[in-house]
Amino acid sequence: MKIHEYQAKEVLRRFGVVTPRGVPCFAAEEAVAAAQSLGGSVWVVKAQIHAGGRGKGGGVKVAKSLDEVKQFASQIMGMQLITHQTGPEGQKVRRLLIEEGADIRKEYYVAALTDRATQKVVMMASSEGGMDIEEVAHNTPEKIIKVFIDPLVGMTDAQAKALAVGIGVPEASQAQAMDTFRKLYICYMETDASLAEINPLILEGNGNIKALDAKFNFDSNALYRHEDIVAFRDLDEEDAAEIEASKFDLSYVSLDGNIGCLVNGAGLAMATMDVIKLYGAEPANFLDVGGGATTEKVTEAFKIMLRNPKVRGILVNIFGGIMRCDTIATGVVAAAREVHLTVPLVVRMKGTNEDLGKQILAESGLPIISADSMADAAQKIVAAVAGH
Ligand code: GDP
Ligand code: MN
Repeated sequence: MKIHEYQAKEVLRRFGVVTPRGVPCFAAEEAVAAAQSLGGSVWVVKAQIHAGGRGKGGGVKVAKSLDEVKQFASQIMGMQLITHQTGPEGQKVRRLLIEEGADIRKEYYVAALTDRATQKVVMMASSEGGMDIEEVAHNTPEKIIKVFIDPLVGMTDAQAKALAVGIGVPEASQAQAMDTFRKLYICYMETDASLAEINPLILEGNGNIKALDAKFNFDSNALYRHEDIVAFRDLDEEDAAEIEASKFDLSYVSLDGNIGCLVNGAGLAMATMDVIKLYGAEPANFLDVGGGATTEKVTEAFKIMLRNPKVRGILVNIFGGIMRCDTIATGVVAAAREVHLTVPLVVRMKGTNEDLGKQILAESGLPIISADSMADAAQKIVAAVAGH
């Protein structure tokens, strides 16, 4: 689960990380009062969406007067902000953060994330803050310093120092930087984050270290023990199809391809996507209907897949174990009728009552293409979509 920058900064502050003072706004009209309450003479008006790269997209503006605060707030609020992380359609801005301006001497990058190779938390820092870290990693990998943290020991002083020195924090500010790194690590661990990123972490003119931007990803499997974080959830920022699917207990993830997949079991769903790719096409979604797929659930699953205008065909791949194939077949036929299916549908089912299931599909009068193996099914749907 992701959260907004202003929420991420609230989380960081709970752990003692210093951030600029700011006020979130839910309407452009609130911006001037927010700036007045902060005081000072420079403010930053920041679009709050669950995507980075807002600065380059015109979603972060420095205002030197209250008039400018008003002007930028009304420009940014409601805009369709396009960044390299939003996709070409962009994301509508519904919240703003008005912050006191910072006197930036230097921008750094620091993040805590899970490193699969070492099975440890890695703290990554760079002198090249403010920009896209993927770009830094690609062009100048030597500018990224990493330390791997032993979970039993935690971050050592030597590791915090290695990061601070490695990215070139001036000596007088190193203690503050080290303190920030340690707090970021503790915050990452205690909130069950999978990513906690500060970009940029800044050195101010007066030598202080501050988190100017923050981003978190939280492990959804651990959210049950973080009510305070769940409260930050903003459904406006999430994929509508994924929210709808979660209401019916369907595991659904939107993807970029044009073949919808309806599968039972996460492993089989992954394998199905692989086979589609193997035959040269791309899946439009991951969809696991789970073990107890009822007719209603299958119908909802069809509706959710078909909300995606890119879908040009559907592949149903079911293993009938606890769930019998005839039940699934009945569900598929009912769903296809209810949604007036107009795209090709390939069904492959194996297991209990397989023959009965195939008979139900065949006798339905619907143009359902039956397949035997996974390879057969994938080839048939890829061909059907290509010819469509
Ligand atoms: P992102 O583009 O979505 O990552 O948004 P950021 O919050 O990182 O802002 C992008 C850039 O705007 C930062 O790297 C800074 O250079 C600049 N910026 C943000 N806040 C301030 C501020 O208070 N003062 C100044 N001068 N620049 C700022
Ligand atoms: Mn940033």
